[in-house]
Amino acid sequence: MDTEQGVEYPIQGKPVHYFKELDSTNTTAMEFASRGAEEGTVIRAGRQLRGRGRLGRVWESGLDAGLWFTLILRPRRDSWFVAQVTLLAAVAVAETLRGTCGVRAMIKWPNDVIVDGKKICGILSEMRLNETGTEYAIVGIGINVNLAQSDLSDELKEKATSILIESGSRADSDLILGKFLESFEKWYNLWQVSGFSRIREKWIEYNGTLGRPVLVKDDDQVICEGLATGISEYGSLQVQAKDGTLQEFDFGEISIRF
Ligand code: ADP
Repeated sequence: MDTEQGVEYPIQGKPVHYFKELDSTNTTAMEFASRGAEEGTVIRAGRQLRGRGRLGRVWESGLDAGLWFTLILRPRRDSWFVAQVTLLAAVAVAETLRGTCGVRAMIKWPNDVIVDGKKICGILSEMRLNETGTEYAIVGIGINVNLAQSDLSDELKEKATSILIESGSRADSDLILGKFLESFEKWYNLWQVSGFSRIREKWIEYNGTLGRPVLVKDDDQVICEGLATGISEYGSLQVQAKDGTLQEFDFGEISIRF
């Protein structure tokens, strides 16, 4: 079996459960995963009433012009590494948007995909541990597909964008989901078999974070100001701080602002 071809841990071809409306695809995916849903199962919603971001933030997804879904995973790797799935998913989203929609998507560490500084996709990964390791992980993905500028709330008008806004034409969400799963499967198999290093290389190619001045925030508190210089072998962000020190930040509760 050739693991490089992505045949060992299939993600594509598994059930996609579509709901017209859900509170949150992540919440429903956790219920499915707890009841034993297999790896690769997708929970998709036409719209979300309570879409979640990190740290209790809201993910606006009340319109069915977006692609809102959550993928259920059962990673074989140590739970310590499972946070890397967020970076892996960002690589797969960027690859899909570039390849399928001609959108110059870049990754903003750790969990956003942006175009010219505006967010086009957000990712929220969560996991459940048991005595032996990771029982399951879920990766929630929201892609602004056919949202027009007028669909964006006042809060988002300046900071968000969509495939329609960027490319000028409507895109097919079903096609994007299919291409994403194909890309994700390839990177996920590589990660399970040989770790993070190839994903890290691709992440660096697609990143829109390194070389930029950043504010690192813990909740709403700025804890470091400096220049983003790299990501570690593990995936944490390295920042050359203004005080001259080199600091490293884990995904956890941290967010950055340019
Ligand atoms: P952060 O950007 O700090 O990492 P999150 O990843 O948790 O935060 O994403 C939540 C934030 O994303 C919200 O506070 C809001 O600014 C923004 N947001 C919410 N909905 C959308 C959307 N549909 N498209 C783009 N950005 C959004």
